[in-house]
Amino acid sequence: MLGDLSFNEMREYVTKLGLPAFRGNQLFDAIYSGKTLNEITNIPKNVQALIQNDYPQVKITKKLESRDGTKKYIIQFADGEIAESVLMKYKYGNTICVSTQVGCRMGCKFCASGLHGLKRNLTSGEILSQVVLINKGEGGTLKERKITNIVLMGSGEPLDNYQNVIKFLRLVTSKEGLNISERNISLSTCGLVPEIYKLADEGLNITLTISLHAPNDEIRRKTMPIAQRYTIAEILRACDYYIEKTKRRVAIEYTLIKGVNDSDACANELIKLLKGRLCHVNVIPLNYVKERGLTGAIREEAYKFVGILEKGGLSATVRRTMGEDISGACGQLRNEVLAGAK
Ligand code: SAH
Repeated sequence: MLGDLSFNEMREYVTKLGLPAFRGNQLFDAIYSGKTLNEITNIPKNVQALIQNDYPQVKITKKLESRDGTKKYIIQFADGEIAESVLMKYKYGNTICVSTQVGCRMGCKFCASGLHGLKRNLTSGEILSQVVLINKGEGGTLKERKITNIVLMGSGEPLDNYQNVIKFLRLVTSKEGLNISERNISLSTCGLVPEIYKLADEGLNITLTISLHAPNDEIRRKTMPIAQRYTIAEILRACDYYIEKTKRRVAIEYTLIKGVNDSDACANELIKLLKGRLCHVNVIPLNYVKERGLTGAIREEAYKFVGILEKGGLSATVRRTMGEDISGACGQLRNEVLAGAK
């Protein structure tokens, strides 16, 4: 598929078809501008006919806007599967939250994305198309981007789709492409330890975010099946390696679930666990997922929890919840359109 190719690979692709290399530049430009084949005006029809089977067939099928300005885009791929991507507007720029898989097989008990298991991985071009189409939807072009930051925090476990995610990161940061700064990209994982080590060795300066959600393995195993496979100690050792290689601060996500991980004792245990590490804790009151039957802590409790962490010497903040009214907040992406749920 053409959407998976880098600038140089695109030039090689057209050369193999017996076309001049500049057609590759034109194609690259068209794909990164989010054009459909019909919208390309500078490539003759007979050349378009040669490439049409490889040209990305992606489209925005729906756009929902939240009261707070957050937008959820539903993007459909050639086989009819969809991805949900969320655009959040901040003072410093626009952040897009991309999905890396259709569904998810991690099965976290509080999250909607894994309700129906994993459908399939997204290709690098399909992950990229979310950024390209939303950039276009927001009035951006290849040269004048409307997207400044990317978080890999939509549906799916990015490190469970490792190769495609790495290729996506290289495409989206490439000079000829959207040229998004590596430092403005965050990848969130539930803690696939071997892949964290691999990621540290990729030479990418992105922010690693760990979905920890518990101060010890016993509590973590109650809500996250992955905790049966890797211990918190193993995850934190991998984080230390990541910090050593990239010199970047790691982010820790801690979703507060009432009666599960929200006690003062949990906060104190978390301090012991993380103190002295180059990390920042984001505390998120659990967002509502109707099938999951768990209750979120209220914001006041989240501030209290953060207060304890800060007193104990950790850097911590309560994450703003955005887009909850359009089911666009953390853990609420569920492929609603396909599943038919409302
Ligand atoms: N699979 C990756 C990427 C998903 S990121 C990961 O686990 O990190 C989405 C973030 O939202 C994760 O930190 C996830 O644990 C969190 N999350 C999931 N369900 C949530 C919910 N109902 N409320 C708040 N946060 C939730």
